[in-house]
Amino acid sequence: MSGVRVLVIGSGAREHALLLALAGDPQVTALAAAPGNAGTAALAEHPGLADAADPEQVVALAREWRADLVVVGPEAPLVAGVGDALRAAGVACFGPSAAAARIEGSKAFAKNVMTAAGVPTARSESVDNPGDLDAALARFEAPWVVKDDGLAAGKGVLVTEDLDAARRHAASVLEGGHPVLLESFLDGPEASLFCVVDGTTVVPLLPAQDFKRLGDDDAGPNTGGMGAYAPLPWAPSGLVDEVVDRIVTPVVAELDARGTPFSGLLYAGLALTSSGPQVIEFNCRFGDPETQVVLALLRSSALSLLAATAHGRLAQEPAPTWSDGAAVTVVVAAEGYPGTVRTGDVLRGADDPGVLHAGTRRRDDGAVVSSGGRVLSVVGTGADLDAARDDAYARLATVHLPGGHHRTDIAREAAAGRVAMPVRA
Ligand code: AMP
Repeated sequence: MSGVRVLVIGSGAREHALLLALAGDPQVTALAAAPGNAGTAALAEHPGLADAADPEQVVALAREWRADLVVVGPEAPLVAGVGDALRAAGVACFGPSAAAARIEGSKAFAKNVMTAAGVPTARSESVDNPGDLDAALARFEAPWVVKDDGLAAGKGVLVTEDLDAARRHAASVLEGGHPVLLESFLDGPEASLFCVVDGTTVVPLLPAQDFKRLGDDDAGPNTGGMGAYAPLPWAPSGLVDEVVDRIVTPVVAELDARGTPFSGLLYAGLALTSSGPQVIEFNCRFGDPETQVVLALLRSSALSLLAATAHGRLAQEPAPTWSDGAAVTVVVAAEGYPGTVRTGDVLRGADDPGVLHAGTRRRDDGAVVSSGGRVLSVVGTGADLDAARDDAYARLATVHLPGGHHRTDIAREAAAGRVAMPVRA
């Protein structure tokens, strides 16, 4: 494979990380990002795309730009059928069909697939009618887990000890016209395992842990993710094999048997409980911010892995190889995030190679300004988590965003050897 032109759809730090991993590859001759951000402009052309979730627009762009491979970052274009439209037009695409993307797009669908595949997950009930809510809540106990059964980027979930707060959140989801999913609480440390899947073959990447809550020590509301690290020094050595065998492979086989094979990145969000790993959620694309740390440690070719997945050739592809070190990423969010955010603040120090841009844009006068909730991700690497953490926070100290905020405890516990698996009964 040589002379490959790759178009990456999306505009977050995840897409910046993908572009960075592809940019160093001698087989890649041209890179484009659409829509992209102020940081990706240094690595890739920005041919312009008004709506990344419009399949026709993406196909037209892929043709016009002569893309050999399109990598779709976010879930919304996949759920809208961008992958289907590209494949129908004869363009290779990394990312699943709309039918397979429902594993993320509908939590009720994901539960149905997991039940059919015999995959361990939380007990759940879907509620459509406000009149059924109290009786349904009474069938669960504290802490209550209340989810919006629609795409909410991790932000539609409330985990609370307060029954009134659970009831209020559920009522507001129902008022918004979405069903509510109630779940039993899964107790144990969380881990994310990304697997590339070409319909049948499953290849796991490195397990990572992300930090969903806004504040230090997991205070505050859930967010899209405030930081991540990899690998997980506390995880038992058989964890990846166990998750692939008991969780990912059965789900991939179930989707294939339904005539909707999954091709792309299948992300298993896990709770490592005393009775083994259980699924919190599946996503149909690379997770943000875990991608930033997983790709920072990838030593073999990202292009080979993505192209082999898109072309259904994973069984022939050598397993990916990883650096021995560790990586830590810390997200800087705009004032107000995860609520209504302030944009337009001038960012300083964002040209560091360890800074991956997300909600940024370049103003006509050349200044880089914030344009979204999560503004950037700083990535640090090192021989171990302690060193990677020091690297990330040292880089972060050189970045300035008025009103910006970040967590100070990303990977702190793991670096100190304090995260432990629950004891199995
Ligand atoms: P989700 O959008 O489903 O990934 O949920 C976001 C976050 O809520 C997860 O990363 C967990 O921290 C938490 N969460 C979701 N479901 C559960 C559950 N059943 N038990 C415990 N925590 C959960």
